[in-house]
Amino acid sequence: MSKFQSVEFFKKKKNEYSLLPFRFERLDDQRRVLTNLAGEYLVINEGELKAFVNHALEEQSDAYINLRAKHFLIDEKSEMAKELLEIKLRTKYSNLSEFTALHMFVVTLRCEHSCPYCQVSRQSDDKLKFDMTEEIADKAIDFALRSPARAIKIEFQGGEPLLNFPIIQYVVEEANRRKNDKNVSYVIATNLALIDKNILKYCKEKSIQISTSLDGPEDLHNNNRPRPGKNSYEKAISGIKMVREYLGVDAVSALMTTTRSSLNRVKEIIDEYLDQDMEGIFLRPLSPYGFALKTKSFKAYGVEEWNKFYEQGLEYIIELNKKGVEFKEYYTATILAKMFTSQDPGYVDLMSPAGIGISAIIYNYDGVVYPSDESRMLAEMGDHSFRLGNVLTNSYEEIFLNEALLGPIEESFAYSVPMCNECAFEDYCGADPVFHHGVHKDFVARKPESQFCNRNMTIFMYLINRMESDQFVKELFMKWGQPHA
Ligand code: SF4
Repeated sequence: MSKFQSVEFFKKKKNEYSLLPFRFERLDDQRRVLTNLAGEYLVINEGELKAFVNHALEEQSDAYINLRAKHFLIDEKSEMAKELLEIKLRTKYSNLSEFTALHMFVVTLRCEHSCPYCQVSRQSDDKLKFDMTEEIADKAIDFALRSPARAIKIEFQGGEPLLNFPIIQYVVEEANRRKNDKNVSYVIATNLALIDKNILKYCKEKSIQISTSLDGPEDLHNNNRPRPGKNSYEKAISGIKMVREYLGVDAVSALMTTTRSSLNRVKEIIDEYLDQDMEGIFLRPLSPYGFALKTKSFKAYGVEEWNKFYEQGLEYIIELNKKGVEFKEYYTATILAKMFTSQDPGYVDLMSPAGIGISAIIYNYDGVVYPSDESRMLAEMGDHSFRLGNVLTNSYEEIFLNEALLGPIEESFAYSVPMCNECAFEDYCGADPVFHHGVHKDFVARKPESQFCNRNMTIFMYLINRMESDQFVKELFMKWGQPHA
């Protein structure tokens, strides 16, 4: 069946229903998954699909009723169908006018860890010239507060940001003083090795949240995240306990990175998160930037190996939920939110138009602005394609209207990219021009060669297959897809 038909073909025929725009993909020999502009999906069989497009579907059939309910067809009973579709579409893109929500301040490049996969081209902890100054922080605060977004988050990053805690305090004080009616929240992304009571008292006073890294059980974490004393795990675990004691159980979240040593240990990694009373885990592949690229550790495993790791992890999490243990996987939950709601969760990698600059922006220690953390890493590797300017010398308009930002966003818009424009999963996917430029030196790349495409396409198919084959999984996933579930 061809995906392209003449306009006449879609006009009302004998059964008096019209088709609304949709795309489809083979799920297996019999079943096809249909998706539409509002992100709705529906699985029907090949025969039903043929009847549907030939205007021969019986009005009383389940397929007809479901297709109407999910905005794949309209008939005289479809009250407000087009308006509903429009509202859903507008809601989905509403974050475009509410830019930029996340402002990352790299307050220092110094770090006392030396993680081989580190996305940050860290400096040893005595090089003060890699610290952000008050002058640069001041300008970056101006930029952050000029964002049209009513609520913004300032995230302190490094290196290890606690090595330059005075500038964190300076930014918090100044931003709070100058914010007017903007809602500003704060988070420190730290390895927790340097956390102490004074820092935590300040965090409590200013409602600052903590995000940290936890790669799994002790030996794996220590191996992945070396530091003097070889005790990064001990530091992270005692740090998590301290944060909870001072700031509350929900004040700390953790991120893991999957190295080759993690690949056959997904259950142990998830068990570690359960032991630490985390509500879920973000199964995250290595990023092809920074030290990961320098040390070739990105090449240490292929996308197929990662897909297997992810599926094993998700199956284990489903099994836990079946036994009554509530636990979720956050990347999956982000995709499910795109499938089951009209809200875009705003996760930079899964946005189209790309989330760079729109969802997040990063101010480096020296004032240089990049549209994402990953594009800063590319610059550290010598690729300055995404350098937007410097807060000391450029205006807000010069930075946000820079061709280095608008060009990649326009070029990579998945709706107009070859292959993606026909892909049934385009609505759940993202553009990620930084990843593609990092790996292929092209904002778009050829999708059959793209690990990004392979990984996401596999996940979309897998999630839909799982939901269609197990009612428990469908209900669980629908819950994960709801905001704040
Ligand atoms: S990257 Fe791949 S999965 Fe994503 S929309 Fe494009 S073709 Fe589809």
